[in-house]
Amino acid sequence: MSQPITVLQLYPRDMNIYGDHGNLLVIKRRLERYGYDPQIIEYNPGDNFPETADIVIGGGGQDSGQLKIQDDLLKIGPQLKTMAESGIPMLMVCGLYQLFGKFFKTKGGEVIHGIGVLDVETYGKSERLIGNILTESSDFGQIIGYENHSGQTYLGNNAKPLGMVVLGAGNNTDDNHEGARYKNVIGTYLHGSILPKNPKLADFLIEQAVTKRYGEFSHAPLDDSLAEKARASAIKRPR
Ligand code: GLN
Repeated sequence: MSQPITVLQLYPRDMNIYGDHGNLLVIKRRLERYGYDPQIIEYNPGDNFPETADIVIGGGGQDSGQLKIQDDLLKIGPQLKTMAESGIPMLMVCGLYQLFGKFFKTKGGEVIHGIGVLDVETYGKSERLIGNILTESSDFGQIIGYENHSGQTYLGNNAKPLGMVVLGAGNNTDDNHEGARYKNVIGTYLHGSILPKNPKLADFLIEQAVTKRYGEFSHAPLDDSLAEKARASAIKRPR
């Protein structure tokens, strides 16, 4: 019997754009290839929040989607914070990255409150930052993806950037930062989806989750030649 690993996907109905669903597929498939039994929980507003999870992921959304989930997210925020503090790996993309921060003040002046897992603040601007993006990260090497957002994010002292921008915009138009990291929580603007082209990131989430739950993770590396081909082609695309 293979060992279960629970993957909790936050708000797939409202927060799931530009291919973000691919992140769930990659985690599920890689867990299977490593010999685990992935158990997927889709959490939408009003659902019962699970007692625990081994990996938590969430995607991007329109400002309207973010407004829609705000109250529910604030309700489950304390549980997510406890999970983050205990080292549970999480990947939050764009709209949920912003709301894992302190707040998102939209272009219209509306403040959407976040849960403050990440020490970041986001301000809606009139310029949309759109296109392919390439960053360099000390922990994960080159990270390749696609961004599309009008919110610009600034890091506080308790968050470090996930990567530095090589091509594209990233968090904002003022510094070179992309994404944020606190413990095993990763926030990023990268869609595309991000995980199929960045298996190192997927393996980080999986390895942290498995080690935390079962004490060790020792497997031969998976054959990632297809992902390598996708990376080589994506990296050559213009902004
Ligand atoms: N609505 C947010 C913004 O425009 C997030 C967009 C997204 O998730 N792609 O900044």
